[in-house]
Amino acid sequence: MKTGYLIDMDGVIYRENQMIPGAVDFIAALLATGTPFLFLTNNSAPTPEDLEVRLKHLGVSGLSPRHFYTSAMNTADFLSETDPDCTVYVIGEGGLLAALHERKIPNDGIQPRYVVVGEGTATMERLTKAHECIERGARLLVTNPDNWCPVSSEKTRPGAGATAAFLEASTGRRAYYLGKPNGYMFHRARRKLADLSLNEPENIVMIGDTMETDIRGAVEAGMQSFLVLSGSTQMEVLSDYVYQPTRILQSVADLTQEIKTGISSDRMNSPAFSNGNGHHSRSGNRHQTDIFAFHKPRPRPAMTK
Ligand SMILES: [Mg+2]
Repeated sequence: MKTGYLIDMDGVIYRENQMIPGAVDFIAALLATGTPFLFLTNNSAPTPEDLEVRLKHLGVSGLSPRHFYTSAMNTADFLSETDPDCTVYVIGEGGLLAALHERKIPNDGIQPRYVVVGEGTATMERLTKAHECIERGARLLVTNPDNWCPVSSEKTRPGAGATAAFLEASTGRRAYYLGKPNGYMFHRARRKLADLSLNEPENIVMIGDTMETDIRGAVEAGMQSFLVLSGSTQMEVLSDYVYQPTRILQSVADLTQEIKTGISSDRMNSPAFSNGNGHHSRSGNRHQTDIFAFHKPRPRPAMTK
């Protein structure tokens, strides 16, 4: 079965301007085998060209802008599909402005149909203007729901969700959030992946490090989801979530061999995932979390009432 991959970036491919060990080889294997893939990011600030250059500086060659799909592009796709004649007032960076421009969605600082909020610096002057536009009837659309984004292991920055919360508070209007985990992000990414491939992939896997966006969105879109532990999620918190990933990997490096050979990796063939009859996938533990849950101490209910 032909598999295509949607791949989150921060925490999956790189962290703090450093590639995750093995990620360069993983991407090289995808390219060498002609495996369809698309990087899927909630960061609406960069353009696909910016992202390609960034990865090139980090040592990844052979990529092109068509390998990237951002929440800014998703927002422009959404507006051009649902309301092609609309106008917008934007608080955001180059990636969002370029995506809207490409879809021929005009800026309007007087009577826009939407205020569009993305990642980046929001000045009080622009927030005031956006507030006034919403008061005059503009609807509030946000590229992604992230309240904060990691900058380094000790530092974060405010995200588009925080800027939108400011405007929600000042206007009393509710925002609509695109980007992961919104199903529209996954729906358009699936379509773009099909456009990139000669044959449409039958099986699509989302690889991400964040439960609330990457894994939740994939589960709700009916895709497989691989959680990597190289980013924001630790194994211990998995049992807090209703939705669970299909597989858990230390990092994307665990997949390189599998992509090169087209055969499931040793990790999946290990006896830990076997039910004894030689099959290692469907009939074994559904989630890798199951084997860890087994070792967790459970509170005992009272013996008698
Ligand atoms: Mg991430």
